Amino acid sequence: MAAEKKNLLGLTLKELEVFFESQGQQKFRAKQVFQWMHQKYVDNFDLMSDLSKDLRIRLNELSSVRLPDIISENHSNDGTIKWLFSSGVGQAIESVYIPEKDRGTLCISSQVGCALDCSFCATGFQGFNRNLSTAEIIGQVCYANRVLPRRNNNLPAISNVVFMGMGEPLANYKNVTKALKMLLADNAYGLSRRRVTLSTSGVVPNLQALGDDCNVSLAVSLHAPNDELRNKLVPINKIHPISELLDACWTYAKKQSNRYVTFEYVMLRDVNDSISQAKELAGLLKGKPAKINLIPFNPFSGSDYERSPVDRIRRFQSKLRELGIIVTTRKTRGDDIDAACGQLAGKVKNRVLTRLGEKKGRTVVS
Ligand code: SAH
Ligand code: SF4
Repeated sequence: MAAEKKNLLGLTLKELEVFFESQGQQKFRAKQVFQWMHQKYVDNFDLMSDLSKDLRIRLNELSSVRLPDIISENHSNDGTIKWLFSSGVGQAIESVYIPEKDRGTLCISSQVGCALDCSFCATGFQGFNRNLSTAEIIGQVCYANRVLPRRNNNLPAISNVVFMGMGEPLANYKNVTKALKMLLADNAYGLSRRRVTLSTSGVVPNLQALGDDCNVSLAVSLHAPNDELRNKLVPINKIHPISELLDACWTYAKKQSNRYVTFEYVMLRDVNDSISQAKELAGLLKGKPAKINLIPFNPFSGSDYERSPVDRIRRFQSKLRELGIIVTTRKTRGDDIDAACGQLAGKVKNRVLTRLGEKKGRTVVS
């Protein structure tokens, strides 16, 4: 069987330069192809008009530019668009585009499923299959940029990218950091660090590494004000408890001249939404470069939790404010097409049963 052609979409500019040099080509060609892929969203060498014909033929022989295969596109009443992409036989991941007045946010996935098993999350509920490649991660951004103007010219272009789709980005460190660098690169998407946000449930060693490698904006899924409750909601807390996680956050913030870390807090009725829990939460974050984003729980089939009622969320938010904490409540978007936070389930088959990094074998689910 012929070897699969190299997918250039997932290569950083440096890697692409090495590839071109290894083919006896000049280095500057790499920059041209990089810009075609990530600024003009072109996946056909024959359309890359500043390359010689011979080079295009050679590139077609050796390589390709493969975006993820689209399975479906759903539009919400509020303008949100959800794309389902194939990630292998019977498997799929999701990306969500959220238009607002002055910006367009794309929420992307980093893994097929997630092994971290947070008890309130549809992705965790599905289990884990595999990490996405860099091409599959950046391909979501490339695809969305390419199709959006064809849908409606008035849609805001993608100005922000958040790693809040399926998967735990810091559990796929190498591929995710390469994609992050492409998002920031001037020759590619050229986004500022403020407009690229990685959300993590607290893979602390990799959070420390990220601060040195590529310190984009950080969101941390806290969800509980003490270890006892967080152990139940976010099981990775048993390995990296709150104090360790917060220390890593403050170190991260320092490396960005004390830019704020956003703490996500899912509002679960009668679980983590009492006034005493608001006080405990404020105690953890008071005086630190922190802001809280309350996320009303988005239900999915099979979940045991309920969303906190609006007045309870308001009381919780007011208490935090009164205690000097910056706090906002996230507007739920796209829930009519199951595109809201935590509802992304995609299709996860052949799950590797991993809990907190411990491999327990492989099973097939239908
Ligand atoms: N794995 C990363 C990023 C993906 S989840 C993380 O956990 O941070 C993105 C955000 O959605 C996280 O804050 C996550 O806790 C939250 N979330 C998960 N399930 C949810 C649900 N059912 N309702 C509301 N938010 C949810
Ligand atoms: Fe994974 Fe994040 Fe869902 Fe937890 S909340 S299971 S870390 S995707």
